[in-house]
Amino acid sequence: MQNLKNCKRCGKLFLKTTRDICPDCHQKEEDDFLKVKQYLDKNPGATIVEVSEETEVSQKQIRKFIEEGRLLTSKYEALTIECKRCGKEISQGKYCESCQGELSQQFESVKGEPKQTDDETKETGKVHIKDRVDKRRR
Ligand SMILES: [Zn+2]
Ligand SMILES: [Zn+2]
Repeated sequence: MQNLKNCKRCGKLFLKTTRDICPDCHQKEEDDFLKVKQYLDKNPGATIVEVSEETEVSQKQIRKFIEEGRLLTSKYEALTIECKRCGKEISQGKYCESCQGELSQQFESVKGEPKQTDDETKETGKVHIKDRVDKRRR
């Protein structure tokens, strides 16, 4: 049986690759990235809102590029994203340093990173750790 997966972006089934989006969406993302990059090269001081308006690439997508480290906020000063936990300005990733520290401490007892929701809404930062009591079986 083939390994099929639902595209995270459009929901279509596609053959599983290393990505979690289908080839179509990946192509679209690459196009979007080029548009954003080209716009920023001409307008290095543009903010996410401006870039989004000019390139018609969603702010969410632009943030994703920044999170992934593809758009360097050190190069484009007006590009900032916020820590998903406390809202502090950060330049890369999902959380600021202090939140990352706190979170990784909490994660130590939990294997694997929790699934991020795709919601635009800010997470309250609550981390649910289920106390799993192992049933002792013999
Ligand atoms: Zn897709
Ligand atoms: Zn934070």
